[in-house]
Amino acid sequence: MALEAAKLVAGLRETFGSGKTKSYEWRVSQLKAIVKLADEREKDIIGALRSDLNKSEFESYVHEISGVKKSCKLALKELHQWMTPEKVKTSSTTFPSSAEIVSEPLGVIMVISTWNYPFLLSLDPIVGAISAGNTVVLKPSEIAPATSSMLSKLIHEYMDSSAVKVVEGAVPETTALLEQKWDKIFYTGSCKVGRIILAAAAKHLTPVILELGGKCPVVVDKNINLEVAARRIISGKWCSNNGQTCVAPDYVITTKAFASKLIDALISELEKFFGKEPLKSQDLSRIVNSNHFNRLEKLLDDEKVSDKIVHGGQRDETNLKIAPTILLDVPEDSLIMKEEIFGPLLPIITVNKIEDSISVINAREKPLAAYLFTDEKKLEEEFIGSVSAGGMSINETTLHVTDSSLPFGGVGESGMGSYHGKFSFDAFSHKKAVLRRSFAGDAAARYPPYTPEKLRLIKALLDGNILAIVRALVGW
Ligand code: NAD
Repeated sequence: MALEAAKLVAGLRETFGSGKTKSYEWRVSQLKAIVKLADEREKDIIGALRSDLNKSEFESYVHEISGVKKSCKLALKELHQWMTPEKVKTSSTTFPSSAEIVSEPLGVIMVISTWNYPFLLSLDPIVGAISAGNTVVLKPSEIAPATSSMLSKLIHEYMDSSAVKVVEGAVPETTALLEQKWDKIFYTGSCKVGRIILAAAAKHLTPVILELGGKCPVVVDKNINLEVAARRIISGKWCSNNGQTCVAPDYVITTKAFASKLIDALISELEKFFGKEPLKSQDLSRIVNSNHFNRLEKLLDDEKVSDKIVHGGQRDETNLKIAPTILLDVPEDSLIMKEEIFGPLLPIITVNKIEDSISVINAREKPLAAYLFTDEKKLEEEFIGSVSAGGMSINETTLHVTDSSLPFGGVGESGMGSYHGKFSFDAFSHKKAVLRRSFAGDAAARYPPYTPEKLRLIKALLDGNILAIVRALVGW
C-alpha cells in the first residue's frame, strides 16, 4: 500500500506539474462535472445514503446533494473574480511600486472525510481544492461503505482521473496515505484521529485543516417564541441525521423555572414531526452501525442518568434505531456530559439565572457551534462576546453552516481552519505576495556605506517624512 500511495502522489504531482489544473477552463470543467454527477446520479446518491444511514430523500437532497451543487454554482459564478490577483496599496517604504496578492494552488491535496454526511463532506472540500487549481485524493469513510464505493465509481467516471482520485479504505490505507508528502490535508472527523493527522502532517510540515466536533450547547431563555424555538432545536438535533451531526445541539441549558415548559414544547413538536412511535418513522435516520449504537446505549444506561429520561428512550437494536430522547438535570460527571453525544439524546441542564449558562459553556472545551434563543439584546451581546465557538446561530440551530458567506470551522478542540464559499478557495490557495518596481527611483540612502546623513534620511522615510523621501528619490 505504501508503494501504491507513493505512486499515486507522484502521478498527481506530475499532473499538477503539467500546469493543466491551474487553468480557469480546467477548474470550470471539473466544477461542472460535479454538478452533472449530482444531477444525473441523484437517485444513486439518495440510495447510497439510505443504505448507509437510512437518510430520508428529503434530508439527502437538502443537506447533502443541494449543498454540493450550491458550492459548485457559487464557485462557477465567482471563480474568475477569486482567481484575479488582488491589487493592494503599497507603502512609502516601497515607493514607487505596485503590489498584488496572487492566489496560487498548493499542489496535491488529501481530503479525508467522515460518514455522517458522506456525500457532502467528501465533495465540498474537493470543490474548494479544484476551484483553487489543485489535484486531489479523496479518502471517504469506510463507515459509510455504500457512499464510499459510489463516490469512487462516480468521481472516476465524471471527473478528470489524472487529477482527482479516490482511495477507499480504513486505517491501514489512511496510514499509508499519511506517510506521503501532501501540500495540504483536509480532515473531517474526531479529535482523536485529528491528532494523528496533525502528527503525520508535522513530519512534512504540511498544513492541515481539521474539521472536528465537540459538545454544541443551546441556551434557551424564557422570553422567546417557544413553539418556533422548539421546532428549530428539533430540526438541528433530530431532523439532521438524528443527532449524528457535528453542529447538532449536544445539550441544552435553561433555567430551572423554564425547563418544564421547554420540555413540553419539545415533546409536542416531536410528536407532530415523528408521531407517537418515532422508531417507525421513515424520516428519522438510523444509527450508523452497531458500534455507535452500543456507544449511545452506554450513555443512556449510565446509572447516573438512567432515571433522568423525561421523553423517549426507546431503542430497536435490530434496525439500529433510537428514538428522540430528552434527559433532565443530568449530573456534570455523567458519561453523557463528558463526551460528544453524536446521536439522538438531548440532555437538559438547568441553572438559576440564564446568564449562568455562559460560565457552564466556558468551563468546557470550545465547541464547534453554540446556540442561543432569546429576545434579550443584552444577553445576545454577552453570549456573542463571551462564548468562544467555531460559529453561532442566534434563535436558530445549525443554519449558519449553510450560508456560504460565513466561514465554517472550529476553534481550539473543535478544529482549525475553515471553508465554504470563498473561504474554501482561500483554504486551498497560497496567498503569494508580489511587489513590482521599475528601475527608477533607486534611493542611494538604502545602500552602504551607511552614514549619519543616510540614517537620518531613512529614519525620516520610515517615519513618513515626505520631504525627506522626495530628497532620497532624486538621489543623494
Ligand atoms: P473518525 O475520525 O473516526 O473518522 C474520520 C476519518 O478518519 C475516516 O475517513 C477514517 O477512515 C479515518 N480514520 C479513522 N481512524 C484513523 C486512524 N487511526 N488513522 C488515520 N485515519 C483514521 O471520525 P468519525 O467518528 O467518523 O466522525 C465523528 C466526528 O467527526 C465527530 O466528532 C463529529 O463532530 C466530527 N465531524 C466534524 C465535522 C465538521 O465538519 N467539523 C463534520 C462531521 C463530523
